[in-house]
Amino acid sequence: MSSNSISDNLQTVQDELSAACQAADRPATQVALLAVSKTCSPQQVVEAARAGQRAFGENYVQEAMDKMVAVATLAPELALEWHFIGPIQSNKTRQIAEHFSWVHSVDREKIAVRLSEQRPSNLPPLNICLQINISGEASKSGVAPDEALGLALKIASLPGLRLRGLMAVPEPTDDAVTQRLPFAALRQLQEAMRAEGLPLDTLSMGMSADMRAAIAEGSTIVRIGTAIFGKRDYAKNL
Ligand SMILES: *Cc1c(COP(=O)(O)O)cnc(C)c1O
Repeated sequence: MSSNSISDNLQTVQDELSAACQAADRPATQVALLAVSKTCSPQQVVEAARAGQRAFGENYVQEAMDKMVAVATLAPELALEWHFIGPIQSNKTRQIAEHFSWVHSVDREKIAVRLSEQRPSNLPPLNICLQINISGEASKSGVAPDEALGLALKIASLPGLRLRGLMAVPEPTDDAVTQRLPFAALRQLQEAMRAEGLPLDTLSMGMSADMRAAIAEGSTIVRIGTAIFGKRDYAKNL
């Protein structure tokens, strides 16, 4: 896969996304593709952007800041949308609030309050997904499902933020049926929260290895890195 060009890979992912939507009887316009560019070079981001990709996801604040500057220098004509999807330290919230359009990985009230306070008033509210610890104790990230509603209600009242939905990174498994279970649980949690009056419209779920299962269970944003950019080389880039 990594021997193919980024634009070929993007086309393949778009085709798989469309096929998964068709299989699930959903319009392909319901599922947005977020290209996860962590460890990728600015040149690779520009290549994907020139092939039509607009939204990019990053996990590390300093790497993302450097990349945004480099991409803007290489290709100032590109208007990209940046999503933060990694763990959030409180001393990094200002840079996130100032430079991203979306944050998928909010799981604490303290972080949400800081993001809201630090969101510049000339920008639209920061789009937020609550990260849910859907697979239980194995993962340290994400709020427990039974604490999600309380946190969501607090976030929904913060003026600098716009709560959009839920995100999860389930335990990896190769089995297509097992892959669907945590995604179904996330969708059911979102439905329960909508029934409480929260206007959620986003389910950020599905990565390169489980995109199809996520789309079958209602994903509206898939976060795809490897299938677009090839296998990550952490040693080279970090
Ligand atoms: C790295 C990462 C992805 C992309 O994973 P791939 O398997 O490379 O598609 C998606 N979501 C999060 C939160 C990530 O950290």
